[in-house]
Amino acid sequence: MSPQALILHVAVPTPLRRVFDYRAPEGVPAAALKPGMRLRVPYGHGQAVGVLLDSGTVSSRPVEQLKPALELLDEAPLFTPGLLRVLHFAADYYHHPIGEVAELMLPAALRAGAPALLKQTARWQASAAGLAADLEALARKAPKQAAALSLMRRHGTGVDEGLLRAEELAGPPLKALVGKGLVEPAGAERVETGPLVRETPPALSGEQAAAVAAVRTGTGFRSFLLEGITGSGKTEVYLQLVADCVAAGRQALILVPEIGLTPQTVQRFEARFSCELVVLHSGLSDGERLAAWLKARSGQARIVLGTRSALFTPLPQPGLVIVDEEHDLSYKQQDGLRYSARDLALVRARSEGLPIVLGSATPALESLHQAQGGRHGHLRLTERAGEAKPPRVGLIDVRKLALDEGLSAPLLAKIREHLDGEGQVLLFLNRRGFSPVLLCHGCGWVAECRRCDARYTLHQEPRHLHCHHCDSQRGVPARCPDCGEAALMPLGLGTERLEERLRKHFPDTGLVRIDRDSTRRKGSLAEQLEGIHSGRYRLLVGTQMLAKGHHFPDVTLVALPDMDSALFSSDFRAAERLAQLVTQVAGRAGRAARAGEVVLQTHQPEHPLLHQLLRGGYAEFARSALGEREAARLPPFRHLALLRAEAMKAEEAMGFLAEVKQAARELAGDTVQVLGPAPAPMERRAGRYRAQLLLEACERRPLHALLDGLMPWLETSKSARKVRWSLDVDPQEMM
Ligand code: ADP
Ligand code: ZN
Ligand code: ZN
Repeated sequence: MSPQALILHVAVPTPLRRVFDYRAPEGVPAAALKPGMRLRVPYGHGQAVGVLLDSGTVSSRPVEQLKPALELLDEAPLFTPGLLRVLHFAADYYHHPIGEVAELMLPAALRAGAPALLKQTARWQASAAGLAADLEALARKAPKQAAALSLMRRHGTGVDEGLLRAEELAGPPLKALVGKGLVEPAGAERVETGPLVRETPPALSGEQAAAVAAVRTGTGFRSFLLEGITGSGKTEVYLQLVADCVAAGRQALILVPEIGLTPQTVQRFEARFSCELVVLHSGLSDGERLAAWLKARSGQARIVLGTRSALFTPLPQPGLVIVDEEHDLSYKQQDGLRYSARDLALVRARSEGLPIVLGSATPALESLHQAQGGRHGHLRLTERAGEAKPPRVGLIDVRKLALDEGLSAPLLAKIREHLDGEGQVLLFLNRRGFSPVLLCHGCGWVAECRRCDARYTLHQEPRHLHCHHCDSQRGVPARCPDCGEAALMPLGLGTERLEERLRKHFPDTGLVRIDRDSTRRKGSLAEQLEGIHSGRYRLLVGTQMLAKGHHFPDVTLVALPDMDSALFSSDFRAAERLAQLVTQVAGRAGRAARAGEVVLQTHQPEHPLLHQLLRGGYAEFARSALGEREAARLPPFRHLALLRAEAMKAEEAMGFLAEVKQAARELAGDTVQVLGPAPAPMERRAGRYRAQLLLEACERRPLHALLDGLMPWLETSKSARKVRWSLDVDPQEMM
């Protein structure tokens, strides 16, 4: 073999932090091999699907030892040059194996080696009559037909029958639609392809117009923080920017939080645009996800709306990136590659030369700090759109008041007042289940998970004990296992219990509870939301699933019956999270013509955080919180990385981290502070003991230099083999 043979540098999905070299597959010319294509390669005793990063003539290995790759899987790269840069950045910044990063950026079907081709089966499109039909009327009579028609209306070029089948919409619903003439085979002559913008947008307010104009100005990469109070019309700003973008022949990428991707959000985009829109979220099957991804990659889909990992969707003509509710914790992946989709979206926008808008009513302190430092243009919407006015916020001091399972008489009176005034009432409680504790009145025994340092939550529907940390479940004992008395009593308030109580007080009022338990069945959330919008439900009880992103025009009262448990937390971000949550929940009140009111029940009416929020809203809270962070030398004024370890024995996890600390000291001297090791706040979880080591520095550079030095040490260390360890750069949760 000639020493000049072509050598392929391939990212192979393995935990090893290196790139693997191969020779070209038999019979494949060098010109056919482009970075970003997948290759099937021999790996270990088997095979793997890797991604070609680049090629050259040098290898760290003797060339004659290199094996040829087995097969070239793609005709065109799956990664655009911009996404390849994101791949390299993420692997470097998060110190994560590049093969695993590349794997994560692809839909599961492509990771497994499936061809990157849309399977063409029969395709269907809405006919002219189907485009004009009244979807809501149809939805009342035949929801499946309406769902199928809605799907076709948003895919101007037709929908694959396979996709309809996956959604259980093929068969009778499809037949009925064809029978009614609302649907026809795709490709048929259709008069209306329509303008890009379907409904007429409202005239923008001065602040909205200024925000849109600021983003329009300029070319190439530019970033903005759009700080707009809830209901100020941020989404309208996005819609108009997206309209610009698609009208210019480019594609728009819109990221939304896991919980923010409600049918309502999707409908707002569908109602506005007649071009093809794909939605990417964790509820899709592999086939659906692949189909949506391929449509984005081919350029057929002009708008991509999705949660965290939609960030990695390749777009041949990218024009705009939007990150809605940019402060939301669901943008941070909490396992494997612990990336922040907001931060990587900025990297991607820079890499592809795009404008990016980070929007929120309650921006992350990190983002505010960046905007204040001039890294993002800071756009503000300070008034509610249309006629809506900001809600009045008040405290109910429940000290010494009698509580009926957490509800005070003044709160019950308020609820009645708003129901009598034809308003809807939303009660927010971030704890699902019936009660967080089951206690023996006879001896004080508490039901605790055997595998975690945590208590079981009592659930009534169906009745059982559930650990919310490791998911273990067991029956409810009839008697106390310790003293044998039948005196077990639930302690504390969960959503099920709040629901039960409210039904007793308001037996004739429609009530809906929205949390992870009540929405488990596919389609149930959509049904429940529909019932809220139609007014069938007037009392709404829920967790954060109900708190974020929704627009309920008839909600006039928002109540937070239990503020107290949230005021005590050891995490330095707890105050920020709570301020965001309260502001977001409060933002559900009075979003239309009717005035809104928010009431908080607390035993801590003098708590400074509550006072700041009440007096100056989130903006004032954020200003003082940033001051505190600076004084306490915490992010965003310091940079953190958290090394976590878990093992069957507590000493193993702690011992391993002590060794890491020693190695870190030798590598970094005192440019990086190493704190710990310490047991995690909840030390035992799912039967394993967890510990952590915190690395912090004033500058990113020495921190990352240290991590670069530590990785090879970690990979070869003997004690690392006894534990499971992971690295979290810019950790968002200290647990
Ligand atoms: P946000 O995303 O900031 O919470 P939305 O974009 O959802 O706010 O706007 C809140 C409500 O106000 C929506 O019903 C929206 O249609 C309406 N709205 C937004 N902008 C305008 C405007 N310029 N004129 C009239 N109504 C508007
Ligand atoms: Zn007992
Ligand atoms: Zn548990």
